[in-house]
Amino acid sequence: MPQFLIEEITEKSRDKPLEEKANLEELVEATYEMAKKILPFLASRKIPLTPENYRIFYDYFLSLKPDLSKRVDELLEANCRFSPEVSEALFRDYYFQIEESAALTVEQARERIASASESLNANLGATLNNTSHFRQILAETVNQINLTQVEDTGLKTVVDNLLEETVTALSSQTNLVSSIEKARQLIASLTDELKDQTRLANVDELTQLYNRRYFGKRLSHFIKTGPEDQILSVLLFDIDRFKVINDTWGHNIGDKVLILCARIIKNNAGDNFMAVRFGGEEFMILCPALDRKKALALAESVRSQIENTQVTIRGTTVPVTISCGVTQYIHGDTQEDFVGRADEALYQAKSNGRNQVVEL
Ligand code: GH3
Ligand code: MG
Ligand code: MG
Repeated sequence: MPQFLIEEITEKSRDKPLEEKANLEELVEATYEMAKKILPFLASRKIPLTPENYRIFYDYFLSLKPDLSKRVDELLEANCRFSPEVSEALFRDYYFQIEESAALTVEQARERIASASESLNANLGATLNNTSHFRQILAETVNQINLTQVEDTGLKTVVDNLLEETVTALSSQTNLVSSIEKARQLIASLTDELKDQTRLANVDELTQLYNRRYFGKRLSHFIKTGPEDQILSVLLFDIDRFKVINDTWGHNIGDKVLILCARIIKNNAGDNFMAVRFGGEEFMILCPALDRKKALALAESVRSQIENTQVTIRGTTVPVTISCGVTQYIHGDTQEDFVGRADEALYQAKSNGRNQVVEL
């Protein structure tokens, strides 16, 4: 049986600003002061004191996340009671949000590449006959980089292409060596930066699986461009009773269990399928060219591997299981139809007793 040992966590839980307080006494006092504000406030509004709500209002009272505070204000205004659904949605939007800011940086990186190419063009001027080809290559590169951002493929070809053409230009135009070389280095480093940022925008930080945003993009591409008879299946996983793991062992250990499940899911997805962290403890595998029967077998394999991995937390063996809903794309399905059917199958797997796969 595979073993997975979760070590004792010595570091404190993530990004709690009050923990920067120099000594423990100060920290104790400051956090209790916060609790004295948060608890009566939640009680007066009949808001459940879940860990999520505590965290949300902790950040709210310290004004740590202006966007979140604004949203919370709106919800309070509307007498919202912060049900688990609402607080989970807030968590999704304000705590696992690396994608949006990274996406902006991708755009910034693209602009810088475009302007590097422009300044190179200006330097080359009209005096040289064979530079127009080089210019064209640069312009095409920038276009392709833009495309790459959408499709996440071909970056390497873009860079190789650029470098090869640069070498040709360098050997025939020695007087331009330093200007071209400088631009080449700049573009190469910006392209690296773009690659990093593209990855950041598409990948979940904790598990390194693709994120929901990128999944949506790929799925809509499949639906728009796939042939009528395309075969596409999806597996939607949700860890069973994950909240109990968090509540018993803490969020940090919970994170490690997420990483473990993500690793097993990624290994099973291999290179042909796309492994996704769909939400908190929900994962997906999107499987082009895999029919429902084979998808079911894949889901069953993931489920049993997770069940048969012995997870030991601080010396205690903790059962970890996962449920899964499987469905195959039906021509005419919207994204919502398709994912909704997988969700319905998952729901059935949960209500039938968990640790099982249901196909619809
Ligand atoms: P079920 O079998 O019905 O799925 O029960 P469950 O406890 O797994 O489901 P529930 O939706 O009640 O709880 C999911 C929990 O996952 C709640 C939330 O705090 C936790 N969670 C979401 N994202 C993260 C994360 O990134 N790290 C950790 N540690 N916990 C997370
Ligand atoms: Mg869930
Ligand atoms: Mg769950």
